[in-house]
Amino acid sequence: MRQRFQRSKRYTKRFAAGFLLLLLCLAGCSTKDMSSITAQASEQEVRKQVEQEQGSGDLNLHYLDVGQGNAVLAESQGRYMLIDGGARKASSFVVSYLEKQGVKELDYLLISHFDEDHLAGAIGALHKFPVKQLITPDYETDSSIYQSYAEVVEEKQYQAVHPKVGDTFTFGTATFRIISPTVYGHEDENQDSVGIVLQNGENEFFIGGDIGLESEKEILNAGIDIQADVMLMNHHGSHVSDDFLDAVNPDYAVISCGADNRYGHPRQDTVELLEKVQILLFRTDKQGTIDVSSDGKDITFVQQPCNDYTPGTRGSDSQQEEAAGSMENAGPEDCDYVLNAHTKKIHLPGCASVKTMDEDNKEYYKGDKQALLDNGYTACGNCKP
Ligand SMILES: [Zn+2]
Ligand SMILES: [Zn+2]
Repeated sequence: MRQRFQRSKRYTKRFAAGFLLLLLCLAGCSTKDMSSITAQASEQEVRKQVEQEQGSGDLNLHYLDVGQGNAVLAESQGRYMLIDGGARKASSFVVSYLEKQGVKELDYLLISHFDEDHLAGAIGALHKFPVKQLITPDYETDSSIYQSYAEVVEEKQYQAVHPKVGDTFTFGTATFRIISPTVYGHEDENQDSVGIVLQNGENEFFIGGDIGLESEKEILNAGIDIQADVMLMNHHGSHVSDDFLDAVNPDYAVISCGADNRYGHPRQDTVELLEKVQILLFRTDKQGTIDVSSDGKDITFVQQPCNDYTPGTRGSDSQQEEAAGSMENAGPEDCDYVLNAHTKKIHLPGCASVKTMDEDNKEYYKGDKQALLDNGYTACGNCKP
């Protein structure tokens, strides 16, 4: 049973903007454009048929249940875009999900940033599907997962695009515009995430990767339009500021996180804020993959919102992951390096970042740095261990 949630606010503003766009378009139309209309018409018929077979709207989004990580598949007029691909564990699920959806190629593959929980599945997709445009942030890391990424990009001879804030891309009936990062070089690479607002008619979807308070502030200071109807909560439901949520002003929120994840996502203050301002909530850890479509006016979710505003607990998954992934073998006194288990950064014990690091992410390590690099860790750019 499908529930249709209608929304009408902000209609006037959007109508005015659309009208202006139409005027500009009419003014810029050439006769050459007109002569190709017949060819376009038959193409449009085919597209329409494809569209009817694939979903109920012009734009269909799937927030994939990839456990702890993020992957969103978007489709419009038989064209596909993948935004992040989830972690290693989810990589084969993501590829087979795309195959089941009929994906033969990706018009866009957008990798928000190069953390494993976003990048690993994207590498799987790069191996499996031709990609017309690869969009990534403009930085490199020395992690082993990044090396695998760089190898497949080189093998396929792709040239990644590093977009600037304000750049706009067309995608089927929709467009998406880049909203972050406004600057690069954050110590925490999450803050360098490429974020977008995907727009179809009056409907807008915010997807900001793993940005946090630092990047949020920069986006707000730059006065970027980030208003959207549906907000994928930043960084798996980690921090969000009141001001930022206010600026996006969504009706619906989606949180992509794993059940019992070790980070305690979503954060208590974040879900409390969502509940306080009565934003309808969908969660992949509670509901699996979330499907939504937009016809340019209405947004239709396949599921009902779960409106489950309970925060994550540092669950059973933490013991498992710690057993599998922890490099901790020393204490604060006898360690050579201090690791951030979340950002996978290697720091010297005296690094300023160690003082501000979340205690739960802190690990002490004694031994060879190469072993850390082999396990996906990268060196801090400030203390240069
Ligand atoms: Zn992440
Ligand atoms: Zn991240």
